[in-house]
Amino acid sequence: MNVATNLRINADRLWDSLMEMAKIGATEKGGVCRLALTDLDRQARDLFCQWAKDAGCTVKIDKMGNIFARRPGKDDSLSPVMTGSHIDSQPTGGKFDGIYGIMAGLEVVRTLNDFNYETQRPIEVAVWTNEEGSRFAPAMVASGVFAGVFPLDYGLSRADLDGKTMGQELKRIGYDGPEEVGGRPVFAFFETHIEQGPILENEKKTIGVVQGAQGQRWFEVTMVGQEAHAGPTPMKVRKDALVGAAHVVTAINRIGHDNQPFACATVGLIQSSPNSRNTIPGKVFFTIDLRHPEDAVLSKMAAGAKAACEEAAAKNSLELDFKEIWYSPPVKFDTSCVGAVKAGAEELGMPSMPIISGAGHDACYMSRVAPTGMIFIPCEGGISHNEIESATREDCGAGCDVLLRAVVERANAL
Ligand SMILES: [Zn+2]
Repeated sequence: MNVATNLRINADRLWDSLMEMAKIGATEKGGVCRLALTDLDRQARDLFCQWAKDAGCTVKIDKMGNIFARRPGKDDSLSPVMTGSHIDSQPTGGKFDGIYGIMAGLEVVRTLNDFNYETQRPIEVAVWTNEEGSRFAPAMVASGVFAGVFPLDYGLSRADLDGKTMGQELKRIGYDGPEEVGGRPVFAFFETHIEQGPILENEKKTIGVVQGAQGQRWFEVTMVGQEAHAGPTPMKVRKDALVGAAHVVTAINRIGHDNQPFACATVGLIQSSPNSRNTIPGKVFFTIDLRHPEDAVLSKMAAGAKAACEEAAAKNSLELDFKEIWYSPPVKFDTSCVGAVKAGAEELGMPSMPIISGAGHDACYMSRVAPTGMIFIPCEGGISHNEIESATREDCGAGCDVLLRAVVERANAL
């Protein structure tokens, strides 16, 4: 990758655009409240479209309200390299989650314009509708429709708590576009995002080269013993369901520790019944949440969780109901895209490290239909989904410079 060595983005311009966007839905504590398909979302969309047109892009909107700002390539018949993220926020969100990835994409286009640099392939900056899932569930629904994970009707019929559907609200704010959703080739997709965790900050790295996202397996477990008086019932005849659950809680924690790095294992909810101080617990319900980026390890962890439940049930003479209620497979990003991000960071002499996303992103769905990569930058204290969410001008600029290199490298590949 030698073509773009003198290209550098303008970190001040990027920062100014971020701060201008942060005024739309600004909260008193310095955050942003910009729920999907509200008037504030429309204002931010309008501003993005204006900026994209000012930068010479053509803007197209699809039936899910996804926006695509396109800078033509030398051969405009080639499939585009796409980059982007989301404009919507949590009710008490920050100034960087999502919008940073869009402003970074726009800054790449502005920089290429500054240098009169033509790429072989077109470049598109994408705005995905309703990533957060806080007004309309589920999250990432519009990139999901683009990637064929959900049908269009399903996406448009998602309703908020007042019963207003995404279809109605898209129409109301004027973003019910004419374009079909997805079904066209995308040569590569990149998303730049704050890490939303503490790893980069702790390791003193500027760039996270995202390898993929972890898979998840969720379980619900019920253990049934026998309720009895806490006084007259001798220890050796008890069937104490909470003691069984306690063994499982520590076993699950050990499974997490035994599968480092990357594994997460949590019992986060527990209901003991009858929950009375002088009655031996007769029934306990609890949940298990297992996460790992490799499917084989995740399966092994799940087998370990099941064995721990069976052992605890047998030891304490309990009946066991163990069922898996959700499986989300791990996401592995494309080697050429991950390589382009890594090479970009190295070329710029920026400290980087491989990292796994703990959260879901539009890039996870996009990876099902296009070679995909992500770039993480640090955020202060690893805090996100919070009005105090913060990132520095330098780190925002660094992530954008890496994005520029990755996008240009892929956009010149044939
Ligand atoms: Zn986000």
